[in-house]
Amino acid sequence: MNEEILKTGAPKVNLLGLTQEEMIEFFAGLGEKPFRASQVMKWIHLGAVDNFQDMTNLSKALRAKLESTAEIYIPEVVYKKFSKDGTRKWVLKLDHSNSVEAVFIPSDGRGTLCVSSQVGCALDCSFCSTGKQGFQRNLSAAEIIAQVWVANQSFGPRDNRGDRPVTNIVMMGMGEPLLNFDNVIRAMHLMKDDLGYGVSKRRLTLSTSGVVPAMDQMGEEIDVSLAVSLHAPNDELRDQLVPINKKYPLKELLAACTRYLNRYDSNRRRVTMEYVMIDGINDAPEHAKQLAKLLRNVPSKINLIPFNPFPGSDYRRSPTERVEWFQNFLLKQGYTTTVRSTRGDDIDAACGQLVGKVQDRTRRNSRWREKLIDISSGDGADGSA
Ligand code: SAH
Ligand code: SF4
Repeated sequence: MNEEILKTGAPKVNLLGLTQEEMIEFFAGLGEKPFRASQVMKWIHLGAVDNFQDMTNLSKALRAKLESTAEIYIPEVVYKKFSKDGTRKWVLKLDHSNSVEAVFIPSDGRGTLCVSSQVGCALDCSFCSTGKQGFQRNLSAAEIIAQVWVANQSFGPRDNRGDRPVTNIVMMGMGEPLLNFDNVIRAMHLMKDDLGYGVSKRRLTLSTSGVVPAMDQMGEEIDVSLAVSLHAPNDELRDQLVPINKKYPLKELLAACTRYLNRYDSNRRRVTMEYVMIDGINDAPEHAKQLAKLLRNVPSKINLIPFNPFPGSDYRRSPTERVEWFQNFLLKQGYTTTVRSTRGDDIDAACGQLVGKVQDRTRRNSRWREKLIDISSGDGADGSA
């Protein structure tokens, strides 16, 4: 039995996560022409339609055929919050025990959606609340796309040329996207596709903690922007903060970044190096100096992320002056360096802090919903311009 059948309880194909190629194949299986795939994809992804009866340019017979063989399954939205500043969040219930969150953040004429790839994460970075939950499971391509669908749908249906509210997507929510490789790459193809969400390669960013072999494979399969969770300028410190560094140390990681850039038009591309700033751990002037030296030969822009505290963590956020010092030093060294902004209490956290399993906790603690607003998710708006 395939994953979709298990999830929906019906032997139907969930069309939500199919790439254009797969959709054409599906319609060929029904004896239908390829243009049917385009029609249905437009309904689903542009029109935000989730039932076949609303697809008015399909014959009644075809709609009936689709009803019996396929479905458009969107997980239930168990929580949503639209803030006054334009930020929107959704918690999607994936199955009886697992939920994920997606966050939309508008800024400067763009709308960035932060998307999750796994429930929990196996990599256990010391400063990340997702890592502290352990790994629960991978998301299917449909579950990844569902987050984009739900965000898109909240803005109402769009026509073919209508403005798309989601202009940027960052794979910076829960999970390590390169450890759910196939589903993430398929979903990202759909995010790029004009019949899907039409997000350009520069505005579509995958963030990885540095799964080196998968970075090379990603280079072979898709051209999107790359962000790397660097967080430390030397192996000794990075081993502590990002344990996968023990397997793929900095030298190998940076070589993989260079290979990724060289595969495409490296003149115009840089890797975004994410650097969480933790008080007294990685924020000394010496660290800034090491960082500037380390990245000298890798076209990079640096994104400093003030650490977002969460219950159970002993780390503290670096003071603002230290973050500013770090930024100014790196700017003087010639690096484009931004500081990820925090915008109001309710979104004052990074996507890496997304919390799953909301269902269980809601039952145990009626205040959990309030809590979720305080500690969850954040600003991935810097992914790429
Ligand atoms: N697993 C991937 C993508 C998800 S994490 C990765 O690690 O790159 C998205 C970003 O949020 C990463 O840069 C991550 O290091 C950062 N992050 C995680 N926990 C954080 C915290 N408590 N405060 C600030 N940034 C955090
Ligand atoms: Fe996983 Fe990324 Fe969190 Fe590390 S920072 S535990 S890789 S989600």
